Formats: sequence, C-alpha cells, structure tokens
Amino acid sequence: MTAQGIPDDIFGHLGIPRVVNAATTYTALGGVALPPAVVAAMADASKSCVSMEELHLAAGRRVAALTRNEAGLVTSGCATAIVLGVLAAITDGRPERIAKVHHDNTLARNVVMHRAHRIPYDRAIELAGARIVEVGNVLQTFAWELEAAIDDTTAAVFWVAGSHLPQTTLSLEETVAIAHAKGVPVIVDAAAQLPPVSNLWNYTQGCGADVVTFSGGKGLAGPQASGLLLGRADLIEAARLNAAPFQRLARPMKVGKEEICGLVAALELYLARDHDADARNWRRTVDQWMNDFGDLEGISLHREDSNEAGQPVPRLGLTFASIARAEQVEATLWNDSPRIAVVRVHETIYLSPDTLLAGESDLVRDRLRAAALLMERTS
Ligand SMILES: *Cc1c(COP(=O)(O)O)cnc(C)c1O
Repeated sequence: MTAQGIPDDIFGHLGIPRVVNAATTYTALGGVALPPAVVAAMADASKSCVSMEELHLAAGRRVAALTRNEAGLVTSGCATAIVLGVLAAITDGRPERIAKVHHDNTLARNVVMHRAHRIPYDRAIELAGARIVEVGNVLQTFAWELEAAIDDTTAAVFWVAGSHLPQTTLSLEETVAIAHAKGVPVIVDAAAQLPPVSNLWNYTQGCGADVVTFSGGKGLAGPQASGLLLGRADLIEAARLNAAPFQRLARPMKVGKEEICGLVAALELYLARDHDADARNWRRTVDQWMNDFGDLEGISLHREDSNEAGQPVPRLGLTFASIARAEQVEATLWNDSPRIAVVRVHETIYLSPDTLLAGESDLVRDRLRAAALLMERTS
C-alpha cells in the first residue's frame, strides 16, 4: 500500500491481470512498459502547472533538434499527428480557415493516397474533415494516376511507410516529386517504423516528405497517449494552431504536460540507446526460444527478421498443424495470470522479444511449452 490506501498493484486493485507482452507495441495492450526515466519525467511534469503553449513550443524545438527536423509537435498519438497534419494542409494555418474548417465547403480538402496504402488508421484523415481519393490498386500504381488525381481540390498526399505493405506503389521519392510539382505537401505515416532510428529524419530530410508522423508509445517506448509530427516549420506551426490548448477543432485530442515531457524523455533515451546491442539481445532471445522449443512435437519453428510492421526486429514463428491448435495455445496463454499476449496469423504464433521485460522471455518459454503440451494431450 502507498499513501492514502491506494495499492501498489493498481491493475490488481481493479481486479484485472497484467499482460506479458510477447506480441508487439499494440495500443490494445497499452503499448509498452515505460522506462523509469520516462516515468520520472512524467512525475516531474505533474508537480506544477506550466504554460502549455510555452511547453508545446519548447518540446517541439527539442524533438525537432533530436530528430534533425526543421520543426516538431508533440501530439496525443500518431493518429492525432495525422489529423493535425491534414488540418495543417487544409487550413495553411490561416485563422479564418481554422475557425470554420469543419463547415467551409470552399476549402481544398481531398487527400490523395495509394489504394495499396489503405489501412485502418487512415480514418484519421477523414476525422480531419478530408475526403480520401485513391490512386492505383494493390498490384500497381502509375505516375500519371497520381498526377491526374492531384488538382485544386487536393490538400495533401498521404503516404504510408513500411515494408509489410504492398511494395507496388510509387516510391516516396516519386510521390514527393509529383506532389511538389503541383505544390501539394506529402504527409508520411511512419507510426511503427522504428527501428531504425534514422527513420526519424529519413522520410523528411532524406526523401523530401513535408511532414512525418510517429507513435510515442511504440518503438520510442514513450507514453501510450503520445506521438510526433515532424517536418516543415510552416506546416508544424499550422498544425499547432489547430490543436489544444486552443479551443479549435482538434481540442479533444489534447496531450497533457506529463505525456509531452514523457515523450521528450523517451526520445532522448531512444537516441542514446545502443541500437546494435538491442538487435543482438533480440536475436539472442529468439535464438534461445528456437533452441528451447526444438523438441516440441508437431510444431515447426522459423525465425523472421522483421516484425509485424516490417521493421528490423526479429521474432519467432511457431507454426501448428491447424488454426484450431494455434488458437488453443493462444487462448491458454491469454487465459492465465499474468496474461501472455502473442501475435497469431492463421496457424502461426509469433513471439517477439522487444516488448518483454527482464526475465519474461523465460516465463513465455515455460508457459508456451506447457500450453503446447496441454494442446497435445487434449487434441
Ligand atoms: C499505430 C498506428 C497508428 C496510430 O498510432 P497511435 O499512436 O496509436 O495514434 C497510425 N498508423 C499506423 C500505420 C500505425 O501502425
């Protein structure tokens, strides 16, 4: 018990088990466990009031410097960064547009994107009052299709990053060249595209995109309700003017002083990390699992070099004889305390090392072995 009778184990106090995350940085699982230095920054920010405008501007300058971008804004998540990026493009930061952006039919509010880039998160574009205009299909997109789709109703082009998506779209460089020739900005969604750390500047400084969005609670191991919008200073300023603390359209997507400071701390930590050592440790865990599960009957093992978002984080795939068997093992892992979360795709269960805390890879091994043996006995 801490002071005032609030127990140390808050999830237990609420009657729910904690989750050991062998899946990935899923929002539905709360993202990641926060490093103590991030929690300390959040606690420090909680101790007094501050001018939120000053904090936003100062944190924006800091995240821009850390990520080698012209400007930056801390948001309440990558989805909010998308909303604000689109609002920035629609309004250009002009106060009379910001004031009536949601019912001014004279504004250019189409956002062009590849059909092969349609993802569940793209509704954040529509939340900003934009209409999505698709180009191409899953198998191919031609430059002329993008050129033809951009006209005076276009506010921005949206490009989704990640090698897990069909690689049949126009490249980011081609997309940028076409959009810029027509005077339209390109917004890149790179929510889960870390590592590598260089992606923090590669899409903008390297490939020429105007702004890029990241989640704070995924690869950066920051607060779940945080994100980044990085890139061109005029667009970042326009985005900021649409957001809290102002009473504007994006006011409901307020990010608190604790999350802003937590994300700055997470970003500082992320940039100071030994990323090669992380890669070696992940690799060692996956190799160890491969070894530990080698004797399990009826399961084939394989290592994948990239995670579910296509980034270079290795994981172990365990392929069962049927979907039903994989589902049974998944359910057994989930229905114990602590819960263990995994990614399952059809008959394959994936175990990821990067979201586990110290010691948890052994727990995952023991529980998965037990679940697999139980499945053998009952099937
Ligand atoms: C997770 C994700 C988002 C949303 O990010 P939040 O930080 O949860 O708002 C957007 N786009 C993609 C591709 C994502 O993976």
